[in-house]
Amino acid sequence: MNIEQLYKLYSENYLVDTDSRKIRKGSIYFALKGENFNGNKFALQAIKSGASYAIVDESEYNNSPNTILVKNTLKTLQELANFHRKQLNIPILSLTGSNGKTTTKELINSVLSKKYKTTATLGNLNNHIGVPLTLLKMTPETEIGIVEMGANHINEIEFLCKIAEPNYGYITNFGKAHLEGFGSLEGVIKGKSELYNFLKKTNGTAFVNTDDKIQVKQSVGLHLIEFNKAMIQFINALPFVKVKFKKLIIESNLIGSYNYYNIAAAIAIGNHFKVTTKEIKNAIENYLPTNNRSQIIEKNTTKIILDAYNANPSSMTAALENFNQITTSNKKIVILGDMFELGETSWVEHQKIAELASSYNFSEIHLIGKAFSTTTVKNAFVYESFDAFKCSINYLNYNNSTILIKGSRGMALERVLDLF
Ligand code: ATP
Ligand code: MG
Repeated sequence: MNIEQLYKLYSENYLVDTDSRKIRKGSIYFALKGENFNGNKFALQAIKSGASYAIVDESEYNNSPNTILVKNTLKTLQELANFHRKQLNIPILSLTGSNGKTTTKELINSVLSKKYKTTATLGNLNNHIGVPLTLLKMTPETEIGIVEMGANHINEIEFLCKIAEPNYGYITNFGKAHLEGFGSLEGVIKGKSELYNFLKKTNGTAFVNTDDKIQVKQSVGLHLIEFNKAMIQFINALPFVKVKFKKLIIESNLIGSYNYYNIAAAIAIGNHFKVTTKEIKNAIENYLPTNNRSQIIEKNTTKIILDAYNANPSSMTAALENFNQITTSNKKIVILGDMFELGETSWVEHQKIAELASSYNFSEIHLIGKAFSTTTVKNAFVYESFDAFKCSINYLNYNNSTILIKGSRGMALERVLDLF
């Protein structure tokens, strides 16, 4: 079966599923393979559960009138997504960058959905599977698509762009994230800039924060829509980021001054697509972060800034700088967990963060994880594992404290909350 024929079947309902336990009636099930599972095995079950067809890539599972055998299911999913994208005559905005992609994507979606029927990446589904699935969620009713693209090695963004064919793009920032795959900050810049390169080749447009010199340099020669602190004023970040745009004050529910640019981007993009300032304000003020992304939690006399969703050297630095700026009569405590995927630079980057934390006047610094436990700073407590930290917590006094908690996803530092 070729892509056009498959597209006919898909466009009956515009539904695609990859989890045989969550089949929607009339969808097409794509049997994907992972390290520990083979979706082919669940093709019949998916059909029984209501899928109209199942795409398989192992002939022994091509055993029902409704199974369709292809060479490679994943590749077919990507090709179908791209074929669909070509039929959709709509603006697609792609977002990448080291930090803040999901937050920015959700803010943009809140803003644009005030005026348009939008379809955006669900959660963090931003890879070679998530991007095609995001595109296949779009229907002829969709007026604007918003696609988050993640990458941890070179050529990945280029590959995702070829599938999604964005005509607008925004790179949130270039920071030290996924250094293992990119090798260096230069590698990160090159990798993320693949979005700009795609837009250049296809006559697309980039949104650019001109306060960021790397964005300015990398986007030379592109159609640009610029924004900066002169256009969207930063008022303060205490406790939540507050900005001013066209005489309106916008008070977000996001903590951390680094969220200023996430908000500014959403305002600039909303403004470009002619969402009224009032609606932009309303959308941003009603957006609440989820998934342990910069939430404030109060427990008795303890105030916790829970930023346990993820961490890398640049977001860790931003969080520490921001925490240092907060004025409070409480004791300030930081609890940091290892930053993953740093490759050879891991020790140096952990040491730098430990030194930065200890350079501020915090009451206590707790560093958890294999990497952090080998750092050497005088005034920090280090623990090789979360369990080791858990054992010591009884000796610590968290009353009247403001605590910053941040670490990589794998550290799951939201577990700290259970200890109070
Ligand atoms: P992922 O790589 O997991 O997809 P992401 O780029 O989508 O991450 P978010 O999920 O929006 O990023 O935010 C993750 C964390 O990054 C936040 O909790 C915050 O600590 C930090 N962060 C968010 N925005 C910025 C920013 N503009 N600059 C620096 N750090 C940021
Ligand atoms: Mg994300």
